[in-house]
Amino acid sequence: MAHASLTALGDPRPAVFWTDRVGAPGPFDPAVGHASFDLAIVGGGLSGLWAAIHALEASPARKVVVLEAETVGFGASTRNGGFCDASLTHGIFNGLRHWPNDYDTLERLGSENLRDMIRQLNQLGIDAAVDQGGYLGVAVQPWQVEDLAEEASWMNERGLTAQFLDADETRALVDSPTYLGGLRDPNGSLMVDPAALVWGLADAVTRLGGTIHESTRVAAVDPNGSRLRLATETGATIDADRVIVATNAWAEPVPSIRNWVIPIYDHVLMTEPLSAEQWASVGWIEPFGISDSGNQFHYYRRTRDGRILWGGYDANYYAGNGMGPEYENRIDSHVLIAEHFRTTFPQLEDVEFSHRWAGPIGTTSKFAATFGTKHDNRLVWFGGYTGLGVGASRWAALAALDLVDGLNTERTALGIVRRKPLPFPPEPFRNTIIQYTRRQIARADENGGTNGAWLRLLDRFGVGFDS
Ligand SMILES: Cc1cc2nc3c(=O)[nH]c(=O)nc-3n(C[C@H](O)[C@H](O)[C@H](O)COP(=O)(O)OP(=O)(O)OC[C@H]3O[C@@H](n4cnc5c(N)ncnc54)[C@H](O)[C@@H]3O)c2cc1C
Repeated sequence: MAHASLTALGDPRPAVFWTDRVGAPGPFDPAVGHASFDLAIVGGGLSGLWAAIHALEASPARKVVVLEAETVGFGASTRNGGFCDASLTHGIFNGLRHWPNDYDTLERLGSENLRDMIRQLNQLGIDAAVDQGGYLGVAVQPWQVEDLAEEASWMNERGLTAQFLDADETRALVDSPTYLGGLRDPNGSLMVDPAALVWGLADAVTRLGGTIHESTRVAAVDPNGSRLRLATETGATIDADRVIVATNAWAEPVPSIRNWVIPIYDHVLMTEPLSAEQWASVGWIEPFGISDSGNQFHYYRRTRDGRILWGGYDANYYAGNGMGPEYENRIDSHVLIAEHFRTTFPQLEDVEFSHRWAGPIGTTSKFAATFGTKHDNRLVWFGGYTGLGVGASRWAALAALDLVDGLNTERTALGIVRRKPLPFPPEPFRNTIIQYTRRQIARADENGGTNGAWLRLLDRFGVGFDS
């Protein structure tokens, strides 16, 4: 497609900024021949690596292996914005809507998870460039001002520190002519460097005695007597007593995961480092992350080397659960969000983008992680955090480990762990319904945030589409 506005984008490298540097651990050898482990974990993203660390810390003698199809963190885990949120439920209101009875517990567990993560990273000697600056939600349409005001007063009633800001107060923190109001939450989220986090966790897995195999795609998991046998695409086999599948958007090697977890591609840009004058023109000093408040939203943050990461808004589903490198290079999406960046910060019209990339978000119809079991509960799969998995994956890995070890805990008693969301319909209905829903979401944003009949119907069934 031809573009009127390629100039807004410039010519950034089609590469993930976070991993475009040296420092990756390994490479870890692929699995060959036959081996035996107590616990095999499929997928070397945040979910799989945290599961391995939790298992090894709880039982240092346990023989644990992580099997990763590509390289550790190849999926969403090194491609994300690095917003590490306390929410386990893709936000407060989504949590209240779907798990009202458990919500107080989920909120407490989410805060504890963030606190425990910092402690654990320190203990493991992992420097993930954690910045504890919190979060700023901004309103760019009048209806979003009301929503943020409501959210702030709701949070205050629960004793959470959130401050509603008018347009001037918001622009005093970060200056964009598009801002009409804001919500400042200093506590609910951290910023991390995603690659530093993943690489540090992978290194910790091996230091704790675990094994990692990269370039090892697991094709099938089948019963083999009292154990499970994992077969890799290259012919290696691994026997294990227990298996955790943490392949998120890929939904492999258990085909039924696809009923609940589907891939959507989210797009990100990174600027060149801003000059001191450019930063002064924006006035953004503290390291909090920002997102605007439409149904389709942008998220953006500072990096420690003085860049702005800018992502979101245009989340795409491809027919037949399409995944692969061909979907990471959708220039239309990058041009669109580059234009939005220039509108948000007209004072940065000369700032160039250095990198552009995309990655697969695994989403469910309730936007938060879901869990399933197979082979008499000896296999547990989990995933589907939508766009808030950096923090939640650490907690979900604990819950998955409880399940696979047959433990009854506070975590496994929760509805979010015990009950799956409604499945997505099969193709071709899946694609038709998702594309129609995306159009209705865009229309609702244009229409003062008011949902039309279709979105209200989905709401009634407790399902939706988000990033
Ligand atoms: C562009 C983008 C921006 C995001 N921004 C944020 C954000 O700012 N904050 C936030 O909280 N969340 C964000 N997310 C979501 C977050 O990154 C994910 O929820 C989280 O990383 C999920 O981790 P995971 O380990 O479950 O999945 P993944 O990181 O996707 O890992 C799955 C792994 O499984 C491997 N695999 C697949 N199939 C097989 C197989 N058959 N055998 C072996 N291995 C296999 C894959 O190669 C991959 O490495 C974002 C996601 C994207 C894509």
